[in-house]
Amino acid sequence: LVRVENVNKHFGALHVLRDINLTVSRGEVVVVIGPSGGGKSTLCRAINRLETIDSGTITFDGRPLPAEGKALARLRSDVGMVFQSFNLFAHKTILENVTLGPTRVRGIARDQADKRGMELLERVGIASQAGKHPAQLSGGQQQRVAIARALAMDPKMILFDEPTSALDPEMVQEVLDVMIGLAREGMTMMVVTHEMGFARRAANRVVFMAEGQIVEENTPDEFFTAPRTERAKDFLSKIL
Ligand code: ATP
Ligand code: MG
Repeated sequence: LVRVENVNKHFGALHVLRDINLTVSRGEVVVVIGPSGGGKSTLCRAINRLETIDSGTITFDGRPLPAEGKALARLRSDVGMVFQSFNLFAHKTILENVTLGPTRVRGIARDQADKRGMELLERVGIASQAGKHPAQLSGGQQQRVAIARALAMDPKMILFDEPTSALDPEMVQEVLDVMIGLAREGMTMMVVTHEMGFARRAANRVVFMAEGQIVEENTPDEFFTAPRTERAKDFLSKIL
């Protein structure tokens, strides 16, 4: 579904993506892990074209990423994104947060969008909060709204960038459970996270990134028990 080939990206003198090659197939769950500043977020953002690249190619569904216009809007709805900071609209209700994209971007009728929105809120376990505003919800609940909002656009893939890092520990699992459910249902996902339980249960592949490079690609089992590179061993010894 996604093919990243020989991609390089600089921020000024900083070489943040160094010759990145990566594919994500339909239905696959790829976990990206690695030290801070390694380029994980930049890679996610490049796939969604929130960030441009200096060289190399990225294709989605067999076509190079569009630069602008309708095709770019289409890409952004095909590739959902869930961030560490939930980025919900504070002055809209929970249901409105979920239906805004479908009604404004997809042109779906309000009653139909509301019906689907409620189904999605049901699915992430917060239908009872539909009329509230984001500030009235816990972090875990807000992140589940953000997931429902991404799903409302019928994405072909969802990128998660450290979706549980900003949450209190007791709320992490409720978000991971929703993500594990999506993975089981066959959603294509790229997930930047240090949650090893999630990686072990849901990932098909672990990609370890450091200093702008993919240092190791491995099965979750092997990566966590017998990493092949010193760099990964060193990293794991610090986070375990
Ligand atoms: P973290 O685990 O802390 O989220 P990361 O692996 O996601 O790190 P990136 O956010 O992709 O890393 O950043 C890679 C490097 O690029 C870092 O050194 C960061 O400071 C730098 N960087 C990121 N965004 C910008 C920007 N818009 N302008 C300049 N430098 C940037
Ligand atoms: Mg990041």
